[in-house]
Amino acid sequence: MDADVVVLGTGASGLAAAAASADAGAGVVLLEKGSTVGGTTALSGGVVWLPAVTPGDSVPAALRYLFALAQGSADDELLRTFVEQAAPTRDWLHERTPLRLRLVERYPDYHPEHPGGRPDGGRSYEPELFPTSDLGQWADRLGGAVRRLRIGEIPSGGGSGVIPDELMRERTDRGVEGLGRALVAGLLAGCLKHGVEPLLEQRAVRLLVDGGRVNGVVAQTSAGERTFVARSVVLATGGFERDPGLVRAFLRGPISHPPGASTSTGDGLRLAMTVGASLGGMPNAWWVPVVLAAHDVSTLLLRERTLPGTIMLNDSGRRFVNEAANYNALGAAFHAFDVTRFRYANDPAWLVIDEACVRTYGVFGHRPGDAPGWLRRVESVAELAAAVGAPESTVRATIEHWNRLVDAGADADFDRGQSRYDGWCGDQRHYGTPAATLGSLGRGPFYLARVYGSALGTSGGPRTTLDGQVLAVDGRPIPGLFAAGNAMAAPTGMVYGGAGGTLGPALVFGRLAGRAAAR
Ligand SMILES: Cc1cc2nc3c(=O)[nH]c(=O)nc-3n(C[C@H](O)[C@H](O)[C@H](O)COP(=O)(O)OP(=O)(O)OC[C@H]3O[C@@H](n4cnc5c(N)ncnc54)[C@H](O)[C@@H]3O)c2cc1C
Repeated sequence: MDADVVVLGTGASGLAAAAASADAGAGVVLLEKGSTVGGTTALSGGVVWLPAVTPGDSVPAALRYLFALAQGSADDELLRTFVEQAAPTRDWLHERTPLRLRLVERYPDYHPEHPGGRPDGGRSYEPELFPTSDLGQWADRLGGAVRRLRIGEIPSGGGSGVIPDELMRERTDRGVEGLGRALVAGLLAGCLKHGVEPLLEQRAVRLLVDGGRVNGVVAQTSAGERTFVARSVVLATGGFERDPGLVRAFLRGPISHPPGASTSTGDGLRLAMTVGASLGGMPNAWWVPVVLAAHDVSTLLLRERTLPGTIMLNDSGRRFVNEAANYNALGAAFHAFDVTRFRYANDPAWLVIDEACVRTYGVFGHRPGDAPGWLRRVESVAELAAAVGAPESTVRATIEHWNRLVDAGADADFDRGQSRYDGWCGDQRHYGTPAATLGSLGRGPFYLARVYGSALGTSGGPRTTLDGQVLAVDGRPIPGLFAAGNAMAAPTGMVYGGAGGTLGPALVFGRLAGRAAAR
């Protein structure tokens, strides 16, 4: 036996599983296919949605909220486990790893007006800044790019994104980081503390099975195939959004330019399928619209579509959705189908930004008044219509109608600004009113970007028991096989409860799976 437990993947779910297994006394081997640690988690904002943790929140309230949203897409008992285990998971992380999570003040749930929803926040946490120098040689093995800010300091968290030079120098000197890399760093430090060091560039390609029990894996390495015999294997390999064949086979609609890790090719899904796993939630993903920024880098479109003075148009020159809705819900609008023209009606779409918006707020990380060069500039409504490829009269009518709605203070077409969430990334001076996101468009110039329906990650995969053990097609648990994170059928189904809606379940079920695998 090489280990008690082999964990595949070093994202949030894999690191939590490895630390929890080791903490429970197991000998753990942690394999990572990439050359760095952290997968998509390292690229992420690192926000973690943990319900029923903050004083004033409760298990019944969180369940009311999730049950109302799930509409049959999730297993009630998995939802209950998630909610009940959120606080113990946060406590365990604080007691047994160096990771510290802090509440992002006021961050509203993504559907805060639903029963049990929280308009004034209380469920979205972020990692405290982490001194990556504490990781020693592992500091250079974190995936993604250095980001030294907290969510609360960036524009979508209510900050400016600009912090004093002296403070930034201090953070740089100490290698202090925030966001997703801080989450990975804290979890990795937890693994190292429990004696688990990731083995990089080791891609699991086959499960070992003996008498119906999974008892290890074969990994591809630069030195050839390597076998790891163990009592249990945890699949924490992320989603399958980077495998076009799996995307075509399973997702409910197309996605383009997925912004997550290139290693999310569904390896865990394939491994589970080879041993007869039952699959769940396969059409679902954590949807998000993206734009292609400089050098065609796929960039989440979060803030700019919610700022006053912006709208989104489809190729027909019409608005089609509440632009300020949460990104996961917005995915459905990109999969709307035009049955007459037999094509996706709104994918790709156009983001239209008014000159006053650029001047007032600054967009895509640029200072107010300075539009990034990769945005296309057009001078007039006529040029805008030509760029979009729609009749000028339609585009003009759309803008005039929108401006009338703005003047009336309510988006009677799509309810933009009705939810408290809609204004979160908008104009903070008007937060809590529709004016935080409603703003008229002038005559030009305008700035344009193509907007694509995409996904932060897929969320379907092998179905599991309440502690993450993979179920076979006959409904029985497969001995020795566990799954967590985006590699498992999401315990929350199609629901993205609030900021951190994927990493919250990834940590909770990572810990549960790791602990159960160690038993
Ligand atoms: C830009 C961006 C921002 C985001 N921000 C947030 C946020 O703030 N909050 C939130 O909740 N969600 C966020 N998300 C989504 C979130 O990052 C993912 O849902 C989450 O990181 C998935 O975690 P995971 O552990 O399942 O997978 P990952 O973090 O992707 O980790 C999987 C790991 O498994 C490895 N692997 C794959 N195959 C194998 C194999 N065969 N053998 C060994 N290893 C393998 C991969 O290389 C990878 O390192 C964001 C996503 C993006 C792209």
